[in-house]
Amino acid sequence: MKKLSDILPISSWAKYGKTPFVIAGPCSAETEQQVFETVRGIASGHKVHMLRAGIWKPRTRPNSFEGVGEVGLKWIMEAGKEVGLPVTLEVANAEHVEAALKAGVDALWIGARTTVSPFHVQSIADALRGTDMPVLVKNPVNPDLELWIGAIERFANAGLTKLAAIHRGFSTYEKSICRNPPMWEIPIELRRRHQNIPIIVDPSHMAGTRELIQPLSQQALDMGFDGLMIESHINPDKACSDAKQQLTPETLNHVLNSLIVRQPIFDSSVHVELSTLRSKIDRIDNYIMELLGERMGISEIIGEYKKENQLAIHQSQRWADIVKHAVGKGKANGLTEEFIIKFFQQIHNESIYHQSKVFEKNQSPEQINHPKHIIVKE
Ligand code: PEP
Ligand code: MN
Repeated sequence: MKKLSDILPISSWAKYGKTPFVIAGPCSAETEQQVFETVRGIASGHKVHMLRAGIWKPRTRPNSFEGVGEVGLKWIMEAGKEVGLPVTLEVANAEHVEAALKAGVDALWIGARTTVSPFHVQSIADALRGTDMPVLVKNPVNPDLELWIGAIERFANAGLTKLAAIHRGFSTYEKSICRNPPMWEIPIELRRRHQNIPIIVDPSHMAGTRELIQPLSQQALDMGFDGLMIESHINPDKACSDAKQQLTPETLNHVLNSLIVRQPIFDSSVHVELSTLRSKIDRIDNYIMELLGERMGISEIIGEYKKENQLAIHQSQRWADIVKHAVGKGKANGLTEEFIIKFFQQIHNESIYHQSKVFEKNQSPEQINHPKHIIVKE
């Protein structure tokens, strides 16, 4: 049994030099010719380090193309051998794992629709116990970091250390230019908690359209993520799945050549100006924390007052006034309305929590029936 802290860097199991680690290939293997032509085109750019192809496709709706099955496994393995690149494949159950291991696949990935299901993830992890197969775990469809980490943990518990996360964006009901908006704060939080877990970004499934793939890839590199997974098809418009987001190998190579890889670590003695600006930011952050602490202290005193005077904790008019004022003030200072509202919702939650603590004092446990943190739905 291994721990998340035992997870190794990608460079320990894949060759890719100093550039970001790039995986590319069709969303789905469709025909022998499509696989070979796509792979040859991709390999000709010399920027891709691993091939991908879906042969069992988890589709949202039935009666869509669900993959060609094991025959496609043969095509992608042979094409990989021809161009000298390793192959990764999506697996969703123990039979897929068995077939992939038998064919000598180099790495497996877990799709977003599988990561949401702990039973499925566990049965895949059990089928891999005793191997040292690299496994790339896509985030779950919904923005749930715990579920994502939990899935990676199941593979670590099965003894695997060649693991990585794939960030492919999250499903949302809200209107967005992205098919699956990136919600960068989630992979950033994953990185903050587990700095050793490699993160590969999949701009294809985030974007849903070709035009956004280049900017999303650049954003991923600018944020210091470790690699990219991009879908490519010899004839994207005719693809059986994800037609709108696949790039021709030629465009893929063009996108990869356009990406700027910036220095991940900087030497503070060289970048003095940046270091000075960062210490200013640190000072402001400290100040914000002190002010918020002071604000919560006042909330507790208000809580005492409301308790003594039998007033409800939440006064909706007062809250509406606070938000209105904050939006005006924040906008005048160059902040977006969306940020101000989210920020104040969080402050409000914390403030209610502090006031509730005061209300709880001297109450018996049976009298306390409110949750510790009331989540204000955005
Ligand atoms: C895929 O990679 O083709 C795929 C189905 O992706 P996701 O699991 O991210 O939807
Ligand atoms: Mn796809």
